[in-house]
Amino acid sequence: MNILILGSGGREHALAWAALQNPKCDKLIVAPGNAGIAKIAECARIDIEDGGVVVEFASDNAIDLVIVGPEAPLAAGVADRLREAGLSVFGPSAAAARLEASKSFTKEICDACGAPTAAYGHFTDLDAAKAHIRGGRAPVVVKADGLAAGKGVIIAETLEDACAAVDDMFGGAFGGAGAEVVIEEFMTGEEASFFVLVDGETCLPVGTAQDHKRVGEGDTGPNTGGMGAYSPAPIMDDAVTAKALDQIVRPCMAEMVRRGTPYQGVLYVGLMIENGQPRLVEYNVRFGDPECQVLMLRLGGQALDLIHACAEGRLADAQVNWADDHAMTVVMAADGYPGGYTKGTVIRGLDALTEDSFNVMFHAGTTEAGGAVTATGGRVLNATARGATLREARDRAYGMVDAVDWPEGFCRRDIGWRAL
Ligand code: ATP
Repeated sequence: MNILILGSGGREHALAWAALQNPKCDKLIVAPGNAGIAKIAECARIDIEDGGVVVEFASDNAIDLVIVGPEAPLAAGVADRLREAGLSVFGPSAAAARLEASKSFTKEICDACGAPTAAYGHFTDLDAAKAHIRGGRAPVVVKADGLAAGKGVIIAETLEDACAAVDDMFGGAFGGAGAEVVIEEFMTGEEASFFVLVDGETCLPVGTAQDHKRVGEGDTGPNTGGMGAYSPAPIMDDAVTAKALDQIVRPCMAEMVRRGTPYQGVLYVGLMIENGQPRLVEYNVRFGDPECQVLMLRLGGQALDLIHACAEGRLADAQVNWADDHAMTVVMAADGYPGGYTKGTVIRGLDALTEDSFNVMFHAGTTEAGGAVTATGGRVLNATARGATLREARDRAYGMVDAVDWPEGFCRRDIGWRAL
């Protein structure tokens, strides 16, 4: 099978690594890729948000399966163009990708099927939004409706702060994403992420994870794209998982089918769990980064079979062979991240790492020039390891971190603290 993966982060490196663990993978191209991916696959510089370009490239290269990593090409309709051209693609249509691209759309789907989530109001008018806030209680959550790269969510401790947040959003602080706002009840509990492959109505869970969004140890400091993750999430026991599937995921996916926009791809289900009851925080329409890294290390080569079955609507016959294991990924970032960070610093020691089915260093923001790997992004490397226990996985992951010589980089030393 010839495979094309779209994207350039640690998530796509992990997807590429998993595909190569499967003997069915004949040729693998990643567009655009990064320095770590270039060591295991061919990389191609094409505009991955232009459906016409991707279709032509896939046809020219006799691609049998396209795996879309990030949300932007999905929201831009790249999966639609590929399907129209008769290609097998893993990733939802633009219509189904609204589950991530519009928070009010997701709320509407939950309302239609009774899926448990925070109570909310949806506003296109500033005065109405403020009146709603003043009639409620703090804390309150204010969200820009559209895609805002994880920055369009304000948890306001007071009603005045919430009003100031809607002023900012309607004032254009998040561009078009803030032209509509969703105001939500603040939910308490513990968060976890649940990953489900969906091919229309069939839903196949492929793992759970918890991540660390804040830059600082003890979950302090500004939000980031994610500083580390581990799988499984202990709070997602069998009972919580069954409730999440039966009360949230399956009814929502049935509602998408009923509307004529069936969902196909991986559904990232962000949950808040309190007293054994999950409620939906958000859907994302792709694997999380860095959660994908721990899921791929745990699934190994079978991930490709599952993704392929999902793309071809064969999930009813698919099953996951679970290993009773744990995985952790530790993100190494450039000094200064998530603020302004240094670029172009040299990373040494990567070639000397021992990598196998238990230990893999996935690359995110790296490039290679003249034999040297340099850091070009904020989040740069993902030291990812697997073990019989989370502690074992953690010791291996930090062992890799410590073997890398990169004085201008940093990581959190407490990934997994809650579970450990
Ligand atoms: P991302 O995709 O980066 O996680 P996003 O912009 O899609 O972010 P949400 O996931 O909706 O936004 O919210 C981001 C975070 O804010 C959540 O992970 C959660 O910690 C918190 N949050 C969101 N909604 C609520 C809520 N109603 N109650 C409590 N916390 C919330």
